[in-house]
Amino acid sequence: MIKIEHLSKTYTSRKGNVIALEDISLEIAQGAIYGIIGLSGAGKSTLVRCLNRLEEPTSGSISIEGQVITKLPGKELREARQTIGMIFQHFYLLQSRTVAENIAFPLEIAGYKKADIDKRVKELLPLVGLEEKADVYPSQLSGGQKQRVGIARALATQPKVLLCDEATSALDPQTTLSILDLLRDINQSFGLTIIMITHEMKVIKEICTDIAVIHESKIVEHGPVEDVFIQP
Ligand code: ADP
Ligand code: ADP
Repeated sequence: MIKIEHLSKTYTSRKGNVIALEDISLEIAQGAIYGIIGLSGAGKSTLVRCLNRLEEPTSGSISIEGQVITKLPGKELREARQTIGMIFQHFYLLQSRTVAENIAFPLEIAGYKKADIDKRVKELLPLVGLEEKADVYPSQLSGGQKQRVGIARALATQPKVLLCDEATSALDPQTTLSILDLLRDINQSFGLTIIMITHEMKVIKEICTDIAVIHESKIVEHGPVEDVFIQP
């Protein structure tokens, strides 16, 4: 379970203060596909950056399976980050590395042995349907294939949580559906929690079990998808 309690974030700059998150409290159950939806500027990216601790919240706390991640010193923080995988709208693949080398990258950083890395990459390639593309460079891939590499890379260290930041926003509708299918399969196979940050209602309706609506830095509604969207 991920527990976000009274989380607030204010950016301070010379131009003044911007309140990006205001008293956010959410509980995200293990194995949920939890959608966080809101307009541009609502605070979604800030929330993601607090979850992976790229941003320090101004107040409040986040715990993942009982471990408070908002208070961890350097070494523990690096370890905790390995339990959170992340995929992005623009993929952020390394252009000078092949598909297999991109997937291996987080394992190298984490200090895995070469033989273990090779074994793990061989498991991940078929999982995302890219066995044929192991030695190809990102520039030779379609958008959907690039996101599959992103997903495999995010899963490399076997995280407990997968954070998806507008993961399908750069993809056409059909490719979006295939990526959402893959995420659903991964959720079901590994029981890992998926958090989907999006501005697209169709993403929520397609795969999410729960949803929180964020508006002007506050959560205005949350709950199981079928409760939040009452069918006419
Ligand atoms: P979203 O992801 O929903 O578009 P953000 O979290 O990016 O929203 O932004 C929330 C608010 O915080 C916006 O008003 C934005 O301009 C502001 N903001 C985001 N990042 C920074 C920053 N590094 N410095 C100052 N203000 C920021
Ligand atoms: P076991 O408990 O027997 O390890 P799992 O279902 O946890 O079974 O794992 C089965 C396979 O799935 C293993 O090859 C493992 O590497 C892979 N796996 C498990 N969890 C994840 C995850 N979060 N992301 C990617 N692969 C995973």
